[in-house]
Amino acid sequence: MKLMLKFIAKLFIFLTLSTSICLAQIQTENIASIGEEQKIVQTRQMMGTWAEITVYSQDAKSANIAIESALDAMTAVDSLMSAYKQDSEISEINRQAGKNAVSVSPQTFWVVKSAIHYSELSDGAFDITISPLVRSWGFFRKQGRIPPQEEIDQNRAFVNYKLIELNSEHNPLTPFIKGEYNRIKLLKNGMALDLGGIAKGYAVDQAIEKLRDAKIENVLVNLSGNMYAIGHPKDKEAWHIGIRHPRKKESLLGFLKLQEEAISTSGDYEKFFIHDGKKYSHIINPHTGYPVSGVASVTIIAKTAMEADALSTTVFVLGPEKGLKLIESIDGVEGIIVKMDEKEELSFVMSEGFSKRFVLLQQ
Ligand code: ADP
Ligand code: MG
Repeated sequence: MKLMLKFIAKLFIFLTLSTSICLAQIQTENIASIGEEQKIVQTRQMMGTWAEITVYSQDAKSANIAIESALDAMTAVDSLMSAYKQDSEISEINRQAGKNAVSVSPQTFWVVKSAIHYSELSDGAFDITISPLVRSWGFFRKQGRIPPQEEIDQNRAFVNYKLIELNSEHNPLTPFIKGEYNRIKLLKNGMALDLGGIAKGYAVDQAIEKLRDAKIENVLVNLSGNMYAIGHPKDKEAWHIGIRHPRKKESLLGFLKLQEEAISTSGDYEKFFIHDGKKYSHIINPHTGYPVSGVASVTIIAKTAMEADALSTTVFVLGPEKGLKLIESIDGVEGIIVKMDEKEELSFVMSEGFSKRFVLLQQ
């Protein structure tokens, strides 16, 4: 049995300004005196991928300090919520499954609570208790495999967001105190959380909060295709965001302008393996226990990066029909779903708002 697991970079970012993805720690272009607007880019490795923050500012020194604190905020989310880090709050919740409630930070509590909201909206299509199935299909260890049907059925019994117990005794009049009020318990031994479909978006929102606090006016935060844009680059009226063609690696499906909004793409081309000529991608339908097929990519625009991230995964599972309905039902949310039929022919559906601003380049 020959299995191949390929991990390919998420969204091909195309800024019309042709920002090259630079993996240097700090890259400050044109060190100039205050007054002249310059482009400042910093990147940092986290969550198994790269975060990149691009700022246009007349004050490079302040911008670099703000970017650094934004990247620190993103790293902090990783430390709290990674299932790969043994000392994260999520790993502790997983170790205590079926045993004890775990006291967590307000951040982790909020993301888990929000995740449950998207589960409820989608009748369980989005479910952060998906971890046993993600592991069983080999995606956690990045070694894809086809589990026996019996194993899939066994693991499905542990996937159910309704078995996450949230215990918040927080009094809204008092500030949050870590560990005092927010507790999370997984009710069955064998359950485990995986925030892979939502935490990157939340990390982007945390970065944006820091950048706003620092009064940064023109910025794009990008964490592996989860983006948020404020203002615009030099000499442009808005950030132009390219959406990668799901089957042509170097090509764009199209692009759109983004301002004071988030965008996120989930694709079957980033994390997958091929077995007997069939592609198995990393987004799993909790109801069947199998990786979703028939969808090549979903791109969602929303008011927060967490919402865009969670909904791109949710709509991927729901498929074109139910997915589009969900998109149209939420205020401020737009999206495109690229479908793939049995002959691997692509076609797409878009929400009305998305079609009004999307510039299609090729099909
Ligand atoms: P990426 O992780 O590449 O940014 P997504 O945002 O689409 O892509 O999230 C996919 C990840 O979400 C998977 O790698 C897995 O960790 C998790 N996941 C898979 N299926 C589901 C699901 N049905 N509901 C919630 N999370 C899921
Ligand atoms: Mg997602």
